Amino acid sequence: MNPLLDFTGLPKFEQIKPEHVAPAIDELLSECRSLIARLLEDNEPPTWDNFVLPMEDAHERLSRAWGPVGHLNAVMNSPELRAAYNAMLPAITQYYAELGQNHALFEKFKQLKNSHEFDGLSAARKKIIENELRDFRLGGAELPDDRKARYLEIQERLSELSSRFSDNLLDATNDFALHVENREELSGLPEDVLQAAHEAAASAEKTGWLFTLKAPSYMPVMQFADNRALREKMYRAYVTRASEFGKPEWDNTALMDEIVALRGEEARLLGFANYGELSLAAKMAKTPAQVIEFVRELARRSRPFAEKDVAELRDFANYELGMSDPESWDFAYASEKLRERRYAFSEQEVKEYFPEDAVLSGLFKLVGTLYGLRIVKANAPVWHESVRFFDIRDDKGDLAGQFYLDLYARNSKRGGAWMDDVITRRRLKSGIQTPVAYMNCNFAAPVGKKPALFTHDEVITLFHEFGHGLHHLLTEVEDLGVSGINGVEWDAVELPSQFMENYCWEWEVLFSMTRHVETSKPLPRTLFDKMLAAKNFQSGLQSLRQIEFALFDMLMHSAFEQGGGKTILQLLDEVRTEVAVLIPPEYNRFPHSFSHIFAGGYGAGYYSYKWAEVLSADAYSLFEEHGVLNPAVGAKFRSEILAVGGSRDALKSFVAFRGREPAIDALLRHNGLIEHA
Ligand SMILES: [Zn+2]
Repeated sequence: MNPLLDFTGLPKFEQIKPEHVAPAIDELLSECRSLIARLLEDNEPPTWDNFVLPMEDAHERLSRAWGPVGHLNAVMNSPELRAAYNAMLPAITQYYAELGQNHALFEKFKQLKNSHEFDGLSAARKKIIENELRDFRLGGAELPDDRKARYLEIQERLSELSSRFSDNLLDATNDFALHVENREELSGLPEDVLQAAHEAAASAEKTGWLFTLKAPSYMPVMQFADNRALREKMYRAYVTRASEFGKPEWDNTALMDEIVALRGEEARLLGFANYGELSLAAKMAKTPAQVIEFVRELARRSRPFAEKDVAELRDFANYELGMSDPESWDFAYASEKLRERRYAFSEQEVKEYFPEDAVLSGLFKLVGTLYGLRIVKANAPVWHESVRFFDIRDDKGDLAGQFYLDLYARNSKRGGAWMDDVITRRRLKSGIQTPVAYMNCNFAAPVGKKPALFTHDEVITLFHEFGHGLHHLLTEVEDLGVSGINGVEWDAVELPSQFMENYCWEWEVLFSMTRHVETSKPLPRTLFDKMLAAKNFQSGLQSLRQIEFALFDMLMHSAFEQGGGKTILQLLDEVRTEVAVLIPPEYNRFPHSFSHIFAGGYGAGYYSYKWAEVLSADAYSLFEEHGVLNPAVGAKFRSEILAVGGSRDALKSFVAFRGREPAIDALLRHNGLIEHA
């Protein structure tokens, strides 16, 4: 039997081979297609049981077969598997695109929504049907044929423009290289950076050192190179990428104008005033005006701190570095020097206190304290010998969920850290199907007999992904579409993950999960205090930078897009005048490389970063008020936030937990952006 078609229990990782992919997916896709055809031919009025449920079953089978394939492609990549994955990806994408455009299916959902049955359905089921209707509308299902054709044309053109935007940026980035032959021009740069630059030169058949605009080369130059002229050259090249200052064929100017105009047209076709409104239709924030007000309020509160950061930095640059008038290419350099001066401790020193076993048992203990759960090692087929598997058991010993933990980097694994679902909780005729998650990181594997050691940032990453994992695993929803993280608004989905990060700054929690790799001593309080002080270094400046991007993004996709006769650069100038405390040189073309909003999914959504931080900080403040390890507050967080998943609006869940709507004060306090009395 094809192991991808065996849906009993966990994926059969030890049996799955690339040649299983195409036959399994072909079979499941044709099952799905014939089911949809049968449902549409059915003349019976649609009900949950005869219409939604069979579709959920079929789509669950498809995703439970495709899920492990995508997962293996990400964590155990091989040429054969990659080929098998890429061969089926278009068929899957095509199937879901057709589904979204299926007008007859949309009509069936509408019929169900207007039926007597609907009123008696659970909140979760109502939400699933409403989400379906919303997504059909946002996908253009309601448009008359002539306008639908235009809608699809816009979609196609937008995806072409986005991909050209990234290609231009990539080409422009790759095109630049700065060759240095004199070692004296490179003082200040760390040895590993020099080594990499030397290798880059060698592979271009040059002597000396070669620097590029890719982050691992560009960032250290800006941070560490003593040579001001070198920094200026690199800075200028970096901030003019894909603009009119480079090759005309890589200039993103016209693409940006067209993207913004087409997004506006798409929004108006669908009955919205602008793209901002369209983007927010499926998010927690309600209107562009609300987002703009939110961002401006944060700006107002952060600004005095950012001004103080800049004043300190200018003083330091002037008196300590002899730079009377620091420019844009000096700030990262001067900041690094100031940071070193103030908080002298090394990442390496901290890392010695975080051996893997101490960190994991600290994390599991925290979950035990907050939610009364026990995490115990268990067995399951895995894809690599270093992968571990765990059960989460409740106080009665019953299984609540399970997860795989794949912590280490390897060549066959893509970068970053992420959580993904394996099995989602739902009620079946045979009982509850318990959820299973993947948690993946890219930490350095242990060497020899020493345990793996994590940096504090890595500990934070682990806690973050574990927060997503708990959101998926501790759900109590019984219907797939809104179970776990399914159906959670995009700007609220980071709440449980960022929430967990707070514990990595909590002395009583952190202390208990440290053990020096040589001396076995816990982390000294003095070192922790330094880490804490460094945490908020220049947080006013950093916060204001995010705010500038968020405000620019939302204004561009709302008021600006509806017409005002300005250019994108003029809009950015206005935003900077309003918000920024550091004004870059006139030639800076930041928007031309702002991939998040022009090529990624963040158009009219960049504010989400700050939005989710406000939610998680404010949720955590209830713990701060009643004790950060208070199990009663933990139980409430579990039942009102984690358990409900996407079955109700994130705002309602937040209010149910916090007792009021979110406020920005906790975030400002955590970031050191509140004046102490
Ligand atoms: Zn996350």
